[in-house]
Amino acid sequence: MASVFSDLVPPAQRWRADAACRGLQADIFFPDEDGETSDLAVEICGACPVSDRCLSYALSNREKAGVWGGATERERRRIIRQARRKTA
Ligand code: SF4
Repeated sequence: MASVFSDLVPPAQRWRADAACRGLQADIFFPDEDGETSDLAVEICGACPVSDRCLSYALSNREKAGVWGGATERERRRIIRQARRKTA
């Protein structure tokens, strides 16, 4: 029998089941001040077994806010710029 999680979450996002942030307060990863780095979020992401998939998801979906895969919004913009330069 499938779990409630697997029933509700699309297959492409099932990596979230193993996320180190699962069950934690979202505001850790979405700090109030624009551009403010959440050191705690980055630390948690550093120990997350699905950080690569999380970052890939955030980049693919142009997630604008918060820390994803250990990368802040600014860091994700830099990653995208660098990738564009490589393909140009
Ligand atoms: S990398 Fe960070 S934000 Fe992404 S799932 Fe893991 S703990 Fe959560």
